[in-house]
Amino acid sequence: MQRITILGATGSIGVSTLDVVARHPDRYQVYALTAHSRVDDLAAQCLQFHPEVAVVGSAQAASSLTRILAEKGCKTEVAYGESALCEVASASRCDSVMAAIVGAAGLPPTLAAARAGKKVLLANKEALVMSGSLFMDAINASGSALLPIDSEHNAIFQCLPNGYGRAPDKHGVSKVLLTASGGPFLKRDVETLDSVTPEEAVAHPNWVMGRKISVDSATMMNKGLEVIEAHWLFGASAEQIDVVIHPQSVIHSMVSYVDGSVLAQLGNPDMRTPIAYGLAYPDRIASGVSAVDLVKIAHLAFFEPDFNRFPCLKLAYDALLAGGTAPAILNAANEVAVQAFLDRRIGFRAIDRVISSVMDSLPSTAMSSLGDLLEQDKQAREKALSFIH
Ligand code: NAD
Ligand code: MG
Repeated sequence: MQRITILGATGSIGVSTLDVVARHPDRYQVYALTAHSRVDDLAAQCLQFHPEVAVVGSAQAASSLTRILAEKGCKTEVAYGESALCEVASASRCDSVMAAIVGAAGLPPTLAAARAGKKVLLANKEALVMSGSLFMDAINASGSALLPIDSEHNAIFQCLPNGYGRAPDKHGVSKVLLTASGGPFLKRDVETLDSVTPEEAVAHPNWVMGRKISVDSATMMNKGLEVIEAHWLFGASAEQIDVVIHPQSVIHSMVSYVDGSVLAQLGNPDMRTPIAYGLAYPDRIASGVSAVDLVKIAHLAFFEPDFNRFPCLKLAYDALLAGGTAPAILNAANEVAVQAFLDRRIGFRAIDRVISSVMDSLPSTAMSSLGDLLEQDKQAREKALSFIH
């Protein structure tokens, strides 16, 4: 029996994870569930899955949750705040942690899970993008298993040999090819992009996801973050990571080998497939997703990304090449700019302008401690806000 903590249980990935878990009560038990503010949703999950602990973002949310659970006779213990998140991610009674909080807020508990030697199922790419070597060092020091849940990285993981050990050259890997749908604005006239609304930006053609990652998909910053994520997960240099636009989202990513072979993983665009793979690895379990019907799809297209249309992708490659805390600065500026766009305070194209200005004005430093990293994150957020106001 695997006991799981789900960080971000009420989000898109959290809900899909519980859907897979519910299909296999013989294998999985929920140890803890966390949510920021959606108390009613979390209460319903507690009543269904009976976790030992539930964590929310504030004292007020904790008292509402405690009241709802008490009325229903549910014995789940309620806690709140960052230290409680870190505790449920590292508790001795938990075996695996699904890291599915969105953004930098997920870093402390995800790092706590890595340090405690938990099996880490990583959906929260921002945590790895920010902390890079710090995070990988924690994984290596504790001997944690790190399983990528992001569909592209999960696909690549499936296409790599056993015992890969982040060494592309040793295993004849010449490139990893990240596929990207291109999002909702792939074909839209570039001149009109500044007038797109948040509703248009979050309407992804193939995937149903949280709002922040949906905007990231529209700017292709999501793919940029994934390039950096792939660098850390697979030990590939920026030159060894290519992005290929593939609008059908059937091939989730590929690995190109020196002998000319290209291995791909295919599937319907449903996150329950990579989630089930991560949960059961190295076994395979049913996820509720049907096999892809290739005859029905009939046609798969591929082309190169256009950096003029998607400047955020270029900014992410630049941050990876700059190294140190540059990816953390990129990520922080992006989080602030995306929120400002969703709040209708800036236009869509201001997102890349804000990030670029922050990158130009804040020099990156070497990656030293979590404290320093969070300080850089804070500075980048303040800088981004100063460009927005
Ligand atoms: P979402 O917005 O649907 O859910 C986010 C979850 O995080 C919620 O449970 C919310 O309560 C929690 N949360 C938000 N802010 C928080 C804070 N400050 N402190 C603590 N908890 C907080 O997001 P999502 O689409 O499920 O994405 C989650 C993560 O997974 C992101 O990092 C995203 O990039 C990654 N991811 C998502 C998908 C997808 O298909 N949705 C695919 C690949 C990777
Ligand atoms: Mg992805």
